[in-house]
Amino acid sequence: MKIVVMKFGGTSVESPSAISRTAEIVEGRRARGMAPVVVVSAMAKVTDQLLAAAAAAERGDKTGALAISSRLRNRHLDAVSALLSGAAAGTVHAWMEEQFQALDDLLRGLAAVQELTPRTTDLVASYGERLSSRMIGEYYAQCGLNGAYVDARTCILTDSQHGKAVPLEDKIEQQLGQTVMPLLQQGRIPVLGGFIGATESGVTTTLGRGGSDYTGALVGRGLNAHAIEIWTDVNGIMTTDPRVCPDALRVKTISFEEAAELAYFGAKVLHPATILPAVQKNIPVWVLNSKDPANHGTQITAMAAHSRSPFKSIAIKRKLTIIDVVASRMLMTHGYLRAIFEVFDRHKSAVDMVSTSEVSVSLTVDSNERLPAIAADLSQIADVKYEGRKALVCLVGENIRGQNGIAAQVFSAIRHVNVRMISQGASEINMSFMIEEEDVEEAVRALHEHFFRDPDPDVFDVTEREGLSNAIATAQEN
Ligand code: ASP
Ligand code: MG
Repeated sequence: MKIVVMKFGGTSVESPSAISRTAEIVEGRRARGMAPVVVVSAMAKVTDQLLAAAAAAERGDKTGALAISSRLRNRHLDAVSALLSGAAAGTVHAWMEEQFQALDDLLRGLAAVQELTPRTTDLVASYGERLSSRMIGEYYAQCGLNGAYVDARTCILTDSQHGKAVPLEDKIEQQLGQTVMPLLQQGRIPVLGGFIGATESGVTTTLGRGGSDYTGALVGRGLNAHAIEIWTDVNGIMTTDPRVCPDALRVKTISFEEAAELAYFGAKVLHPATILPAVQKNIPVWVLNSKDPANHGTQITAMAAHSRSPFKSIAIKRKLTIIDVVASRMLMTHGYLRAIFEVFDRHKSAVDMVSTSEVSVSLTVDSNERLPAIAADLSQIADVKYEGRKALVCLVGENIRGQNGIAAQVFSAIRHVNVRMISQGASEINMSFMIEEEDVEEAVRALHEHFFRDPDPDVFDVTEREGLSNAIATAQEN
């Protein structure tokens, strides 16, 4: 049995018409003799709205919280009416009413005590995927796909770190074998909600924002799937952000390591943790577009395809701050760096880039409201300056390993830009530097022009660029 895990993100299930598109896509896989297992996100924006409702309740704004819930209820009931008919519609309507009653009770309770714990936040956030998966599972049953709704909380067992629970992979494999496998053997198409899980004692947890991709990879790993498909609303990974650089190309194939690097540096297509469970079992992951299912997307594989171009993609991360720590008193003594990092740890701020000199350390962090407190703590051990409005440009590609002269090409392409910090990751597959936010678009266009002028057609989709220039030529003729 060739199992394919198909994960549909929020925009792919945002409306009844989007959901019926997913059914066609799933049917296409089944027609090719594959056995699909479907993992769905909440309908677009639902998780945000649930969290907003919880936050309103915490402030004591019961009316505001219930108003959000009431809008969500209407949206879901309307979707059920559009997708289902007959007895199934009645059953799911009644079930949804119960779910929303429970949610409203919860919100009222929160508003009464004006207190919100991570555990309760998970419970509120879990409704999005609980609702979407049941609705879509029933729809797949009704539209002839033999769909079977599975409550993901029976399979995705986790520890109890609410908000970012750690999956128990062996237990998950066991549960999938007991609940999902038999359905597949009966020729059914199991549908699970992403993002949500439960502890072994049955308390609802979540895997963290964007966690449905993670669920997709966990299910793929647990079932030893042939492939994992992450269906989203873009044509896979691009050579850079097409809004910055209209010439950006689709990357046809990229390695796990490269994709993880890009995700870390802010490419929004994929959650980095998605990568791991699939890597361990060498399962290829595809990023595909549910609004353009014929597009071949990007394949992510264990090994990088060889390419003429040194880089696969250029990522941009904005809204960063550089912190310069100058060791006036404690001149690089033993334990000094640890003392610095402890401050960031205490404030739960992730550091993106570090560079050191004899007496100073520069670090970059996401601009956040904790900066003054971080600077105050750091000033106990050193002189501190910080400066916002910086951006990180990160070029990623396995082919830069051991190649000479790449850095020279990078910095000559952007020679007119003032570079603040440079780093080449230990993985040797990324080269990153920090510049002023206002310079970032120009720098990325210059780099893209230099490195993707003559793209390797085995790795990059050059037909789109040809298509675009033909379209422009036709438009100009007319
Ligand atoms: N619905 C969740 C979120 O918005 C998980 C996901 O869509 O991946 O974070
Ligand atoms: Mg997502």
